[in-house]
Amino acid sequence: MPALAHRHRHRVVMIVVLILGGLLLSMYWAGRLAEQRVWLERSQEAGGQLELYAQAIHTQVERFRSVPALLALDSDIRDLLENPDDAQLRHRLNHRLEQQNQAAGSSVLYLIDLNGETLAASNWSEWSSFVGSNYGFRPYFQDALAQDTGRYFAVGVTTGIPGYFLSSSVKNAAGQTLGVLVVKLELEDMQREWINQPGILLITDALDIVILSNRPAWRFRHLQPLSEEVRHSLVAARRYAEQTLQPLHSKPLQRVAENSERRQVDGPDGRQTYFWQRLPLPEENWTLHLLQEPQQVAASIRSYRLAAAGVWMTLAFLLLYLAQRRKTRRVEQRSRNQLERLVEERTRELQTAQDGLVHAARMAALGQMSAALAHEINQPLTALRMQLASQRLLLDSGRSEAVREGLAQVEGLIERMAALTSHLKTFARKNPAGLPQRVRLDDVVEQALQLLGPRIRNENVAIVRQIPGEAWVSGDAIRLEQVLINLLNNALDAMHDSPVRELRILCREEAGTWRLSVADSGGGIAREHLDQVFEPFFTTKPVGQGLGLGLAVSYGILRDLGGSLAVRNDAQGAVFELTLPAAEKPRTDNSRSDA
Ligand code: ADP
Repeated sequence: MPALAHRHRHRVVMIVVLILGGLLLSMYWAGRLAEQRVWLERSQEAGGQLELYAQAIHTQVERFRSVPALLALDSDIRDLLENPDDAQLRHRLNHRLEQQNQAAGSSVLYLIDLNGETLAASNWSEWSSFVGSNYGFRPYFQDALAQDTGRYFAVGVTTGIPGYFLSSSVKNAAGQTLGVLVVKLELEDMQREWINQPGILLITDALDIVILSNRPAWRFRHLQPLSEEVRHSLVAARRYAEQTLQPLHSKPLQRVAENSERRQVDGPDGRQTYFWQRLPLPEENWTLHLLQEPQQVAASIRSYRLAAAGVWMTLAFLLLYLAQRRKTRRVEQRSRNQLERLVEERTRELQTAQDGLVHAARMAALGQMSAALAHEINQPLTALRMQLASQRLLLDSGRSEAVREGLAQVEGLIERMAALTSHLKTFARKNPAGLPQRVRLDDVVEQALQLLGPRIRNENVAIVRQIPGEAWVSGDAIRLEQVLINLLNNALDAMHDSPVRELRILCREEAGTWRLSVADSGGGIAREHLDQVFEPFFTTKPVGQGLGLGLAVSYGILRDLGGSLAVRNDAQGAVFELTLPAAEKPRTDNSRSDA
């Protein structure tokens, strides 16, 4: 059917689309999941790395934090601030600061008075000596005056070397501020150590300007746009000295966690996407940044996607297989049910057909018989009429004894006719196969012979009949009688032209059954017909005389009664053998069959 094929194709296309759709979806979803996981892992890793850097910076700065505060307690320092013109004291302090700077490992150690003038410095003897320079404009100086301490990252005005300046105010016994002591740390060494580390490390100050980096090209770039005002203040403080500040443009692509995201960066090496991790350093007011190239992530995502695709396909095919199996089972079950229904229907149809046949055959036999019966009944009727006439004469002459005798004969004739008609009535009834009855075979044969009596006498047929009185079978008297009438009729037909006409009806017991044989002297059945005689509509008789149903119906009846019917030939003619299950004989054996 084209519609069905169309629907089938439609379904196949749907399933394929579904599988492919699911495949894409699962791959996409796995990719997303993998991305999230991988990024999170990366973020944790980068966070750990940044912690290490932060630790290093912290240790470095912490070592020097207390240095200026401790030195501020030195009485020579206070003396010099109170007497700035004491050349001897100044000389001594220069030496002292030089020694202490060396011992502490800091870059420069120096003392500034309230005007910002440098009075003494550890580098007093070098070309870059701070002595005499004024640093009053530096925020670390101003912060120390205002709040006792200051810290500030800047590029050295004198040296041009960037450094971290830690300052502390110097006070006299009365608590008055006399000046400021400063220690400068150059973080260049630390920065140099980081050069070989993977990824790009940036350290930005509060203004988001990169003050340190393991990639020199990235230094002194500002991550945020700088307002004119800020630029101005930077120039005033000479914070980055002569360094030009360039912007570092970037735009966010995807946020991964609080301090990590993917950003597209227009860096010194060109445009590139980085995985960008931040770690704030609140004490210094700095922020550490780690920028990594996100390559390996793609490989992880691919393997996640492949795994998801594999799982999805396995699942899809498993589902398909299960669905197919269920369908096959359903179809099988349906066709089995259909078959069962069909068989039941056919059986019922056959049963009704057979019942119909039985009835039709019976009616046909009845038709045949009624002609013979009319003839048979006519005879006693004529006899009766004559008897009655002679009775009247006898009555007139007063011979009552002779009348009584005559009446008995009349009674006999009437009884015979009654038997004939009553039997005919039961025979014509359409009898559904009821419960098996107990039937005496001799009675059944007797009835059948009586019905065929006229023909037997007309055709001068000799009957040999040997049936034991105790031959009780389980069956149905009327239907058995129909079988016998069929067999006897056939036998009479066969012997119609025979010189010898002899019917032998014999019965013997055999293994729980009774076997009744009806043999004739009609010459038997042609060998090639022996297999066919039980087939419906098989007949060798001229049209109008035989329907070919008698034996088929008889065969069916015996099978229904739990017996069988067989045929063979003997020297004289055909022999039909009926086998019927034996029934227990009733205790009062003088009764006739139950029927
Ligand atoms: P019908 O008698 O209407 O032909 P039956 O089924 O009773 O149908 O018989 C079928 C055929 O079997 C008969 O036509 C006949 O050829 C054959 N047949 C039956 N009984 C005998 C018999 N006793 N002797 C010879 N042939 C017989």
